Amino acid sequence: MSGCHDCDNCPAASGPSFHPNSPAPHVVALVGPPNSGKSTLFNRLTGLRQKVANFPGVTVEHHVGRAKTTGTREVVLVDLPGVYSLNPRSEDEQVTRDVLAGGMDGVPKPDSILLILDCTNLARHLVLAAPILALKLPTLIILNMADDLASRGGEVDTAALASQLGAPVALVSAAKGDGVEKVLQFIEGTAQGHGAALKSPLIQLPVLQDVPKCRQWAGQVGAGAAYKAPEPPLWTRRLDSVFLHPVAGVAVFIVVIVAVFQTIFTGAKPLMDGLQNLVQTSGVWMLKAVPDSILMSLLVNGIWKGVGSVIVFLPQILLLFLFIGFLEDSGYLARAALIADRTMAKFGLQGKSFIPLLSAYACAVPAIMSTRTIENKRDRLATIMIAPFMTCSARLPVYTLIIAAFIKERPLLGPFLGTQAGAMLGLYVLGFVAAIVTARLLKSSVLKSEKTAFVLEMPPYRMPTWRSLGLRLYDRAKIFLRRAGTVILAVAIVLWVLLNLPLHNGKPPAITDSYAGAIGHSIEPVIKPLGFNWKIGIGLISSIAAREVIVGTLGTIYGMESSEHPEGLQHSLQSEMTQGGAIALLIFFAFAMQCMSTIAVVRRETGGWRWPAIQFSYMTFLAYAGGFVTNQLVHSGIM
Ligand code: GDP
Repeated sequence: MSGCHDCDNCPAASGPSFHPNSPAPHVVALVGPPNSGKSTLFNRLTGLRQKVANFPGVTVEHHVGRAKTTGTREVVLVDLPGVYSLNPRSEDEQVTRDVLAGGMDGVPKPDSILLILDCTNLARHLVLAAPILALKLPTLIILNMADDLASRGGEVDTAALASQLGAPVALVSAAKGDGVEKVLQFIEGTAQGHGAALKSPLIQLPVLQDVPKCRQWAGQVGAGAAYKAPEPPLWTRRLDSVFLHPVAGVAVFIVVIVAVFQTIFTGAKPLMDGLQNLVQTSGVWMLKAVPDSILMSLLVNGIWKGVGSVIVFLPQILLLFLFIGFLEDSGYLARAALIADRTMAKFGLQGKSFIPLLSAYACAVPAIMSTRTIENKRDRLATIMIAPFMTCSARLPVYTLIIAAFIKERPLLGPFLGTQAGAMLGLYVLGFVAAIVTARLLKSSVLKSEKTAFVLEMPPYRMPTWRSLGLRLYDRAKIFLRRAGTVILAVAIVLWVLLNLPLHNGKPPAITDSYAGAIGHSIEPVIKPLGFNWKIGIGLISSIAAREVIVGTLGTIYGMESSEHPEGLQHSLQSEMTQGGAIALLIFFAFAMQCMSTIAVVRRETGGWRWPAIQFSYMTFLAYAGGFVTNQLVHSGIM
């Protein structure tokens, strides 16, 4: 579709299109509150004939797919963001409203609507029916989770509900596939243009801006349809009495956080090491297999190692999303956010900021993308602004290298903690402190906002399905590899070119005479007060692409083959850098926004260059000032 950014790269090349020359398809919008089962139904109706797209000009993603209908007319399904109302409070609600009103450029106005409601939570979900029915489009009300309703002793009279609302109603279990044929019948019927007009409802629709009136209306409609809400499952109540307990709940919360950390760091390690080995051995193999040439050097030293340094982080990212997916689908994350809300409030943030900040310890890019769940725009911006301070995994190679070379191992807390591990821990704390101080600054000035009431539905606990987890991981892997991969690839090539030009007698120059060397020399005066030489300068510039690139760059520059020989590189650093410069480098990396992907994702999520520019300047300033002060303190013997 014209609003989709990725037409050319779309894996569903045979997927739906809204190109001007094809005959107009019948467009059906899927609308419903979050967690009502929209994606599950969408997947049932479309199978793999779908793709992810971005609405033009906004950051909201949606899925588009072709329905598995048998009629001659093509039916395109658009899965809209989950909403509780059409009052535009969040970007998601705005987008859903605009699309339904036909006011979204590049997206045709829907011809009919599938309104998906969770029938185990009907009183609350029916509220959305009022603004949707007021649109007067052919609408099928889908009561999803029929299996759950029945097993917990709930009831609803669908025929009565249909006459209350003046629209057809289908009881469906998207997860089990029950009742899906009724949905397909409705779609085929409306695509042929018959049997879909809305009747006048028995109970008049309320005035839509009046929220209490809408709730009242929903209650009346539910009662008119003899709705009997299901019992909350006994074990949901039992689990909640622990997970939401003021003391036990916090303890469980801490254990879960520690477990997430531990798993992100250690669990992914074997896979990451495996991938790293694979990248290195295949690189060596390529060098041996093919005669030495400039092209080969570009392929192996430039592209393969550069891109490889990103790919090795994939297991960590996937593990993080597997964790988040499991916690979210099981229903625990909503409880964790409620617990975190009490603490986050002290720094002017809300509970929903907690999940993105936690994931920023692995990588700021997915963290920033996951801020979309924060409705309050100012809270969301504040969270985006502080996320890159959290110590992401890309800082680890840099920290490890410098600490091992410059910090002598001595016991700090008896046998429990040594100076090296202590330094590492200190850097994590430093990033965290910088983040919360910045949050406080922002929330008490430019991003001040009313504290939004924390309305997060407590879903019942459910066993996550492999299908839903798998699809999440697949989506994330694709996004990660495509977005980060392209940036790293480009910079790796540019760095390689700059290190190998200008040619001297047809041969690559010494690094100091290369263009990269010239750039390093030119910024040396600026970075000298921090204790950095021109070689570190090249590393700093190349690491704007991604922090860990500095390790590879320094390895290359110091005459090493690569970061495969950390001891060799450590010796070179020890002989070329001062203690002050080394520690300043650690502080610099704790603060600096050395990451092109983060800059790009902040630009995308905030819809312009303003915020990433402010963020980059602020973080670079802190990094420079921090590095400068550290270097001076170490030199004067204070530190
Ligand atoms: P969305 O946020 O509206 O897209 O909701 P999802 O499709 O992601 O579904 C939310 C959760 O409800 C997932 O864990 C689904 O597996 C589950 N779910 C969806 N449909 C059904 C259903 O008919 N019955 C039951 N028991 N669970 C369902």
